[in-house]
Amino acid sequence: MTYAQQQIERILDAAQNLDNEGVCCELQGYLDELISYASTFADEMNVCENCGRIISYGHTHEGYDGNTYCGCCVEDANRAYSPIRSYHYHKGTYEFKDNGEVLPQKFRGFELEIETNGLNLELFEILENYDSEFAFEEDGSLNNGFEVISNPMSFEYWRNVGFDVLRDLITDLKGVGGVYSWDGGNCGLHVHFSRDEWSSETFRTLIKLIIANPTYFKALSGRDDFGYCRIPNFNDYDLESLYNSERYLAVNFTRETAEFRFFRGTLDTPSIWCSIELCDYLLRYCEHISENGDICDYTLSPRGFEEWLRATTSNADILLGFIARRHRIWNLKQKRIAQRGY
Ligand SMILES: [Zn+2]
Repeated sequence: MTYAQQQIERILDAAQNLDNEGVCCELQGYLDELISYASTFADEMNVCENCGRIISYGHTHEGYDGNTYCGCCVEDANRAYSPIRSYHYHKGTYEFKDNGEVLPQKFRGFELEIETNGLNLELFEILENYDSEFAFEEDGSLNNGFEVISNPMSFEYWRNVGFDVLRDLITDLKGVGGVYSWDGGNCGLHVHFSRDEWSSETFRTLIKLIIANPTYFKALSGRDDFGYCRIPNFNDYDLESLYNSERYLAVNFTRETAEFRFFRGTLDTPSIWCSIELCDYLLRYCEHISENGDICDYTLSPRGFEEWLRATTSNADILLGFIARRHRIWNLKQKRIAQRGY
């Protein structure tokens, strides 16, 4: 019994004693009222399991452990049950994963934002099963969601392990239900590359390609809103040092990583596969252009990229199909906006 409950029991006891002793009949009505109010309060009041504060019915929160908490304590209480850590909790702890290939490899990782209709113990149990492969963190842009964060993976590791584990995780989450990423439109899929495995000239070429073709990349992204991943212009970068003052750009750089931020989040695993592959191939194409300059077989353009993909990769049909689908969706959307204004 908490302190608050003890006190209310004492008030009831005192009133009951007075009643047993007998009071003059003018006071009996007040005493009956006091006993009635106090016992109703004792029955209906909720007490925060953590701080002992009395809470009214409307301000009572049920924790994941089934206990009642006040609004101030419920988040901390739930955190103890949640494998979702605070933003940047895992920073600096990621392990590079490869399949024993000859190094150096070009490592890449991703962050996938997922929203839920409400976090619960069932979802937490699923996440815990995957916490050796992925980290889970809160993100300020999400309501009840979390980010799935991968380790930096080599191509072989992603193909043989990482992607399969991600697919299993998403299947399990969908089994619980109430999870989404594409719907709602506020989730992103970010793809990261280690900066030192690519030349600065490759990144400069990539920046030029994106700035010159904003519509191509907007359509590819699947997004309606670019508030968190604006298509950049040349003023956004110091091209010499590859420094950008703003992080919310379609492609941005930190000291160690290059980040592609423009993809819309999705729980469709083939689309996730294609998105991550395309970031990789975009860099490889830009590397090819930057190394071969004017005598290159391919021009720096979306068309040049697609021709290069067709000529150099065995997955070209799948990737080009994905690009075409995203562009069809974009074109239909633009047509609708032109006709109906939304
Ligand atoms: Zn409390």
